[in-house]
Amino acid sequence: MSQKRHEKLIKLDLLEEHALHLLEKRGVSIEDIAEIVLELQQPYIPEITLEECCRNVRHVLSKREVQYGVITAIEIDIATEKGSFSPILTEVLMHDEGLYGVDEILALSITNIYGSIGLTNFGYVDKVKMGIVAEMDEEKPERCNTFIDDIIAALAAAAASRIAHAQPARQDVDNH
Ligand code: MG
Repeated sequence: MSQKRHEKLIKLDLLEEHALHLLEKRGVSIEDIAEIVLELQQPYIPEITLEECCRNVRHVLSKREVQYGVITAIEIDIATEKGSFSPILTEVLMHDEGLYGVDEILALSITNIYGSIGLTNFGYVDKVKMGIVAEMDEEKPERCNTFIDDIIAALAAAAASRIAHAQPARQDVDNH
């Protein structure tokens, strides 16, 4: 990519717009992610609102490295459905094979920004399959959600961690 084109992308914030567009295209709204954040944070902050959780999800999504993670993950899912990869990788990705962990590793690029609490939250959301993560986890013919489920879990974990870092006195990080 030329330097000029690169600068244009950054200036117009096309990356953020594209990341949001891809999430929406795959049936995931900011509210869906915020609902998981709400569930994660309610034990610590009972008065927390969905709106506050939405605001934190949006803040996480405004970070460049997060946008790169979201776009890469969702575009891999879409390319898999289109048969863009070799038959062997397509098979692995379409069936979300148990030992394939690259999707989780990519999602960690998002949670890492928020330190160890981000990682703990991510593990919890991924294990319990909270909210829309459970929907994404169901296998549907012709549909690949191998990367997006981890990305949603990572976005929710990151937003919850952001709230936790802002109110350290109200959190017990060992609770999960
Ligand atoms: Mg996955």
